[in-house]
Amino acid sequence: MPNPDNSDRRALEAYHDQLTLAELQAGNHPLVFECRTCGHRQNLDVASLIRAHGPESRVAYIRRHTSCPVCIARQA
Ligand SMILES: [Zn+2]
Repeated sequence: MPNPDNSDRRALEAYHDQLTLAELQAGNHPLVFECRTCGHRQNLDVASLIRAHGPESRVAYIRRHTSCPVCIARQA
């Protein structure tokens, strides 16, 4: 189902993808992961991502390495 806000949201995602975790935290941006398969949304904790991946990790990297708990549950 096409969403009228989809292109805006994709532009925002592309912008976020280029930020580092440190920049997200400095700007006090929440990081929301949205599954493209099932649409499940999940708030990610920027502080714990920094501890796990380092402050210079880019959002695009985190997005690629975050898996959806709903889809994983479905596959299991
Ligand atoms: Zn999913």
